[in-house]
Amino acid sequence: MSLPTASHVRQQFLDFFASKGHHIVPSAPIVVKDDPTLLFINSGMAPFKDYFLGNKPAPYKRIADTQKCLRVSGKHNDLEEVGYDTYHHTMFEMLGNWSFGDYFKKDAIAWAWELLTEVFKLEKDRLYVTYFEGDKADGTAADSETQNLWRQYTTDDRILPGNKKDNFWEMGDTGPCGPCTEIHIDLRDNAERAATPGHELVNADHPQVVEVWNNVFMEFERKWKGEAAQKSFLAAKEGFRGSEEERKKVVAKALEENTHLVSLPAKSVDTGMGFERLMMAVSGVKSNYDTDVFQPLIQFIARECGVQYHGTAPAKVTDQPATENEKTDIAVRVIADHIRTIAFTIADGQLPSNVKAGYVIRRILRRAVRYAFSSLGQKQPFLYKIVPVLAEQMAGIFPELKAQQAFVQRVIEEEEIAFLKTLETGLRRLDALEESVRANGGVIDGKTAFELSDTFGFPLDLTALIAREKGLSVDEEGFKKELEQQKSRSRNAQETEQSDWVNVTEHDAPNVFVGYDQDEATARLLRYRK
Ligand code: ATP
Ligand code: MG
Ligand code: MG
Ligand code: MG
Repeated sequence: MSLPTASHVRQQFLDFFASKGHHIVPSAPIVVKDDPTLLFINSGMAPFKDYFLGNKPAPYKRIADTQKCLRVSGKHNDLEEVGYDTYHHTMFEMLGNWSFGDYFKKDAIAWAWELLTEVFKLEKDRLYVTYFEGDKADGTAADSETQNLWRQYTTDDRILPGNKKDNFWEMGDTGPCGPCTEIHIDLRDNAERAATPGHELVNADHPQVVEVWNNVFMEFERKWKGEAAQKSFLAAKEGFRGSEEERKKVVAKALEENTHLVSLPAKSVDTGMGFERLMMAVSGVKSNYDTDVFQPLIQFIARECGVQYHGTAPAKVTDQPATENEKTDIAVRVIADHIRTIAFTIADGQLPSNVKAGYVIRRILRRAVRYAFSSLGQKQPFLYKIVPVLAEQMAGIFPELKAQQAFVQRVIEEEEIAFLKTLETGLRRLDALEESVRANGGVIDGKTAFELSDTFGFPLDLTALIAREKGLSVDEEGFKKELEQQKSRSRNAQETEQSDWVNVTEHDAPNVFVGYDQDEATARLLRYRK
């Protein structure tokens, strides 16, 4: 059976919404240059933020597109899942349709159903939908309108209530917000479906019962109850000292007390469908990696490394690979995933570096190099060779990579050369430490983790990943202390990204964006850019 091609399926989505009066726009660059609260675009809606906030009028009332997204830092960070599961990526395409004060729930739901069941011909009884069940604590009502609309299309056992976390979207502390409805698909075999009903597995991290599409209905604006309320909220937020978990609770409570929801005069729709997951569904396969989006990359990687890809995955994301095949497969998936993030981010103007967005990319690149080295036996630069395959595959929709292919390859190769110089020694150092760490409670101390970072170029998350594979952990607090003490340049982005974005007030001024760090390696590379 030949697989549906990515370009065909993507085009079907765009054509469908064009036929419903949508204007098709190109993806915004993945790299965010003018928003200090967001390093990378992490959802299809992010580039349209100003339209939702009313800062700018939307140029069209209806828009559809495919947006390159990265979920590797801040609020949305899926990095740890990648490779271990088969449906979270660091970079993915979010297909979206938007209504800016135009159509609302009725049309959005009707079209989502029509597209999935009539154009893509997905089986109706494999689809599950959710609606917001309401929140007693803050008095937000259940979205029974959405629940009732779905009743025209499917049965009650497939229309499930969902909580605030999954079914209510907020932009930041204040601003437009509203309930959402998610569409999930059950791709399991019939025997498994007969044994356990799909509704029990929705939002339960089952690799074949996955969320494909989220439709957000922006009908409210969360507003301060007044100036004093805003001050009291900020005081609670900034005065808090304690763990991240407690902080979240305190901030949520303070927000509830000091804000209220006001109905928006113009209601909007914001949707996001994971393209790679849609491809899995329309291809009738059980992994995003078995689709035309990833197969050319996987086949190339397997051939180059002289390994076979079997498509096995651990039962749970937290499990370590049980067999050699699983180990190889994880590495192949990680590399096929990471090369997309690395290549497109560089093509969009962010070079690897030692700060902020640049460091996020360097970390991902080093993670990929380590997998190629340890699991696939690649002792020489290798990742850069995959770029032409990806560039060719994406040329029709994202031509920016092909246009800069030689430059992107050069950057990646230089990074690989630099890291491979210290990787082996660093790995040996970790191996040598293993026994004593195990004898001392299984935690790699902060000083050692810092030395690995400083001397061998191991980002903390790489050390943590290797530790996890050995059944050990890392004292991350201790690492941070060392880092502070040495006033390291390495900074990660976590602190600034607590929500999709925050409205920046003088009071709330974020870290100043320091611009693009060009360390020696990257500065040298700039020569190659035309
Ligand atoms: P999940 O619960 O599976 O992590 P999500 O609720 O975080 O998804 P949304 O923020 O609602 O995702 O994004 C809209 C859609 O984008 C999802 O329905 C899903 O299809 C897709 N998506 C989200 N995160 C990823 C990812 N890391 N890789 C691939 N697709 C993703
Ligand atoms: Mg998620
Ligand atoms: Mg979800
Ligand atoms: Mg969702």
